[in-house]
Amino acid sequence: MSDYIVLVKQVPDVSQITDNAFDPETGTLVRARLASVINELDAQALAFANMMKKISGDDKARLIALTMGPPMAEEVLRYSLARAADQVVLLTDRALGGADTWATANPLAHAIRKITKDLLKCGDDYFVVSGMQSVDGDTAQVPAQIAEELGLPCIAYVTGAEYKKKRFEFTRIISGGSQTVATKKLPAVITVAKYEHTLFATFGRTRWANKADLVQWGADDIKATHIGAKGSKTAVIRVFPPGKSTRKCQQLNDVKSLAKVLMDSVKSGNGQDDQNGDAQAGSYVLPDKRKDKFQRMFEATQKEQDDYQLLIEKIKELGIKSALQIDDSVKEKILESTGKSIHKKTLDDMIEGFKATRPAFKGEVWVVAEHSNGVVHPATFELTGKARDLADSLETRVGVCIAGDNVGHMAEELIAAGADTVYAIEHKLLKQFDPTAYRKAVADAIDKYVPQIVLYAATPQGRMLAPMVSYRVHSGLTADCTGLDIRDSSRKGDIGLLLQTRPALGGNVMATIRTKNSKSQMATARPGVMKRLPPDPSRKGKVVKHQVELSEDDVSLEIIKTELGSGEVNFGAEVIVSGGKGMQSRDNYEQLLGALCDGLGKKLGKQVERGASRAAVEQGFIERVHQVGQTGTAIGPKLYIALGISGAIQHMIGVANTETIVAINSDPNAPIFKQCDYYIVGTVEDTIPQLVQALEAE
Ligand SMILES: Cc1cc2nc3c(=O)[nH]c(=O)nc-3n(C[C@H](O)[C@H](O)[C@H](O)COP(=O)(O)OP(=O)(O)OC[C@H]3O[C@@H](n4cnc5c(N)ncnc54)[C@H](O)[C@@H]3O)c2cc1C
Repeated sequence: MSDYIVLVKQVPDVSQITDNAFDPETGTLVRARLASVINELDAQALAFANMMKKISGDDKARLIALTMGPPMAEEVLRYSLARAADQVVLLTDRALGGADTWATANPLAHAIRKITKDLLKCGDDYFVVSGMQSVDGDTAQVPAQIAEELGLPCIAYVTGAEYKKKRFEFTRIISGGSQTVATKKLPAVITVAKYEHTLFATFGRTRWANKADLVQWGADDIKATHIGAKGSKTAVIRVFPPGKSTRKCQQLNDVKSLAKVLMDSVKSGNGQDDQNGDAQAGSYVLPDKRKDKFQRMFEATQKEQDDYQLLIEKIKELGIKSALQIDDSVKEKILESTGKSIHKKTLDDMIEGFKATRPAFKGEVWVVAEHSNGVVHPATFELTGKARDLADSLETRVGVCIAGDNVGHMAEELIAAGADTVYAIEHKLLKQFDPTAYRKAVADAIDKYVPQIVLYAATPQGRMLAPMVSYRVHSGLTADCTGLDIRDSSRKGDIGLLLQTRPALGGNVMATIRTKNSKSQMATARPGVMKRLPPDPSRKGKVVKHQVELSEDDVSLEIIKTELGSGEVNFGAEVIVSGGKGMQSRDNYEQLLGALCDGLGKKLGKQVERGASRAAVEQGFIERVHQVGQTGTAIGPKLYIALGISGAIQHMIGVANTETIVAINSDPNAPIFKQCDYYIVGTVEDTIPQLVQALEAE
């Protein structure tokens, strides 16, 4: 008999953002001005756990909802009681505030231990079920880190469950397809990516839920080891509004204009040159290597850069050549001449900062490689290119860590892509990706070689592995980065830090984060954002075989079935036309999208490849190998035409490197219209035949 602990979180309602929710001065979103709701995926997790309880036929199974948050988070617990929970626990304490994912997972895991001991008395027979991620954090790290703290298997990105032969079989999203798995042991952590079976509250249950007692615990009750800002391993150093899309977002009102745009954009490539969030990184130089030893132009924040700029001007005016010449009387003069705009303590720290010239972290820059069927994932090459750039700035080497049962043959390609050393971890138990076996193997290598930076692709696999490894090796982790730069915080004596920039709150703000209290700085980075270097087969590198001890006990999942896309697709084509769920049927996809591909291909004299959204693949419109996006393929054609595609983030990050994006959608408010260059509001059924005709006339 399994019991269920469902993690629920109260989040700001980012779907209802009004203009007054933004601070007029900073342009960033003010969280307090948004209504609070239950995180949608946690509501789905609650329904999922309820479904698991039902299909197992176990009436006695208990379901406890747990939340950590301010006292008002009680609302999501009452929501849970009104729908499915038998009991609820509120973990609330000021000391828990300001935590990153590390210091969130740690107290939640300790609370789970206490629930299983004091409330459920269920021994090892329970599931922790949570939404894959929350809309405010968007990291997907907490559940995997809870699993790591508790030493449990974790099945992430789950979309369905069946109860067979007295155990659950779970369907989950993986890169390029889906997989059915079962856990070899319990307890286990499950994260739900999609389960759209809303639970409704009855009148009677709501009345009971509003009166029911909550169990409330504070930090002292759970005895967590890492809590709040102090226990965190990352710190936000800057929050800023996302740059306006550089896409044109221009509405066209007739198919003739659209036909012209399609032709022109392939001929001239008149779209965007670089959507790369990482483009303005600039080349960092270590302080020792700068021409002017006082130069501090790579400070982490604009304020620090400005302060140093002012200080350096004053130092030069006073004819000072070395930081050693700055005694108390010089400091007085500087303070006076800056009109006391710099505080005395700040000045002392800044001057002390001139002595800091060596990087705060030591070691190589690593990429953890992803591969399947003996082929390296394209995102690994992109990250290796980025790692090369970071390592050159820091004057260190690039290592790529690759785990599997037979991986040596991929080393050559990784070296050509920029690696100096390939750390190959080969073991027969690493034949298939198993989170706990892989995290043990990778963490073991990181423990031995202690790289200063470790990058993972933000694919389902990377977003699963990275949090477990980071927790195991006591390092901070930033999810889903779109920018990675090296910068200094000279005032604090920290040189050569990895600044990790990522979208947060559903893309409504950007945050720059640094790592603290860690051996390594770790980040997952969005596929399709960093640039792959042109392969250089003449590059020389070495392969280091890293031995790891693994036993069957380290493998947590039984893989029952894997469904991956098969067939041929040429995503290197200059023009790609994708259909989404809005194509309505496989016939429409074939006929309408097919006619447009043929018409365009003929007119341009080029191959036009077919793509699809995940939803279209799931509807059976076309084989999975054609899926574009985070778990499909990231593409960068000259022209991308999206037909009946809404513009979900997981789809759009796969087309970020496209020159011109064109969308046809019947919904005038379709999100894709804010992320494309040209669009037409209309149904695919009406618009495509007219467009094909207009193309013929062009
Ligand atoms: C972990 C994870 C990974 C994912 N990976 C991917 C991925 O790699 N790729 C991907 O695409 N998605 C991915 N998704 C799914 C993604 O979140 C969206 O659900 C998906 O992209 C939606 O596909 P869609 O736009 O075709 O469908 P919908 O969101 O349902 O949109 C259909 C659109 O069609 C329009 N429409 C309806 N009828 C018509 C008509 N007659 N004519 C014109 N327009 C019409 C509608 O207005 C709507 O905008 C992933 C999700 C998760 C959780």
